[in-house]
Amino acid sequence: MLDVQEIKLKAAIFKKFSSYKQEPVPEPENYVDYILKTTKPLPPITWSNLLNEIQWISVVLIFVPPIVGIIGARHVSLRWETFVWSVMYYLCTGIGITAGYHRLWAHRSYNAPLPTQIILACFGAGAAQGSIKWWSRGHRAHHRYTDTDLDPYNAHKGFWYSHIGWMLVRPRRRPGVADVSDLGRSAVVRWQHEWYLGVMLGMAFGFPALVAGVGWGDVWGGFVYAGVLRLVFVHHSTFCVNSLAHWLGETPYDDKHTPKDHMITAFVTCGEGYHNFHHQTFPDNEIRKGVLSMQLKKLKETQDSLAWPSDSNDLPIVTWETFQNQSRKRPLVLIAGFIHDMSKFVEDHPGGAHLIKKFIGKDATTAFFGGVYDHSNAAHNLLAMKRVGILNGGHPHALDDKTVPPASRLKIAKYAELNSTASYGSTTACSDSED
Ligand SMILES: [Zn+2]
Ligand SMILES: [Zn+2]
Repeated sequence: MLDVQEIKLKAAIFKKFSSYKQEPVPEPENYVDYILKTTKPLPPITWSNLLNEIQWISVVLIFVPPIVGIIGARHVSLRWETFVWSVMYYLCTGIGITAGYHRLWAHRSYNAPLPTQIILACFGAGAAQGSIKWWSRGHRAHHRYTDTDLDPYNAHKGFWYSHIGWMLVRPRRRPGVADVSDLGRSAVVRWQHEWYLGVMLGMAFGFPALVAGVGWGDVWGGFVYAGVLRLVFVHHSTFCVNSLAHWLGETPYDDKHTPKDHMITAFVTCGEGYHNFHHQTFPDNEIRKGVLSMQLKKLKETQDSLAWPSDSNDLPIVTWETFQNQSRKRPLVLIAGFIHDMSKFVEDHPGGAHLIKKFIGKDATTAFFGGVYDHSNAAHNLLAMKRVGILNGGHPHALDDKTVPPASRLKIAKYAELNSTASYGSTTACSDSED
């Protein structure tokens, strides 16, 4: 069935393409922006239109089970057999969603024999989250338009919106176009969609009660605990994939969008905690590039948080005479072409103040690099922080290890900061002396 929005969209697309003969219309630069500009959302929810906009089936399925479950638990005591069965059935219906709805059908990540498909379709229906076809259509749009208004559970609209809010009222926009025609060819998917209400009620409430009733004579316990309360848990477990998995954790593969990885999410959602990775499906080489980029970003943050020696171009070039004159006023030492001001360091020098004083106004290059003591990398890094000038004629050679402190030999640079000779295939890290 077409709704008004879709008819308008089709009319707009027809108009666009029918004008091709006279004047070619370029592809929209951004499909999402184009659709958002050319289609009107439904009016915002207000108190006056709220009742007409509520999706009652979702509201009932989400809010009635916790109420019925709590009331039921006050009247029906929990037997250990029923407890074990409830946990088992929670996992069965959870896996019906994760392994069935999500991996097998929405993403077609693997193939399964017919009996497995039927079991997953039934268990998935027992999680009461809509039919495979409806669920997969929304989920494919979620992947294709992640974090935009065409993503049905757009995480940018907040934790609770992506958790349950998106289901409670009619969506203000249709989810972006996503092809589910492949699922239409599956007899199991068609069957489950056609008989959904019956299969859902049977698997969500009837089957768990039946097992407990036939198994150990606890039909009401089976209904309340393995049926109703188990449903509440499996609901919020799945809903957390849209909310928690886009909110809590790290982005080790890509930070362009909200999906994140976290162990808590993995436990809460029956194994969907690897969500940052989940939104990426590429060859191993490209995945590793993503990981590298994220690591470089973090390292760049550390790099930017540290103080670095003055750039050679910012230092004044001074003559030998000036160096000598200045050295009478403050403790200046020449090392590898750079003049260093040791004022605040003389007394702290681990080798003793006398060694620095001995070289004031002199070239201490050889002494620093092994003549007296072969200084550590940390000492070399610290020395570079004390640079105040460059000796005219003793201009440091950029490729000399003595002039480039160890911490500056491998640094991370943004693409725009790399010199113009860098090729398009270059990495973002540039080593300026090593290798
Ligand atoms: Zn997915
Ligand atoms: Zn997601």
